[in-house]
Amino acid sequence: MKKVYLANDLSDAHLLKGFLEGENIETEVQGEPLWKLRGEIPITQDTCPSVWVINDADYDRAMELVATFNAGGSATPVAGKSWRCRCGEENEGQFTECWSCGRSRPDF
Ligand SMILES: [Zn+2]
Repeated sequence: MKKVYLANDLSDAHLLKGFLEGENIETEVQGEPLWKLRGEIPITQDTCPSVWVINDADYDRAMELVATFNAGGSATPVAGKSWRCRCGEENEGQFTECWSCGRSRPDF
């Protein structure tokens, strides 16, 4: 077992767990009981939930996937996805402003 990720909260931990398991990496979330006590005990790194890989052999690949996860690459593949501005113009995914009118890309 190796720790690959220190999560901000439980949903963060489980999101990563699901992401890694989608890549056939067995994981375990640790620290849930402590996390539920937050407020009663001081919050430190030890009280945040963490994600561990079961098989050490998966560690390197898991770390690469964690980097992708941290970059927002898991659930929201924004880059490359085109979006439509309120002015009606279609923009390529890499643009954050409309090339036609200059409005910022709306948040999805
Ligand atoms: Zn526009």
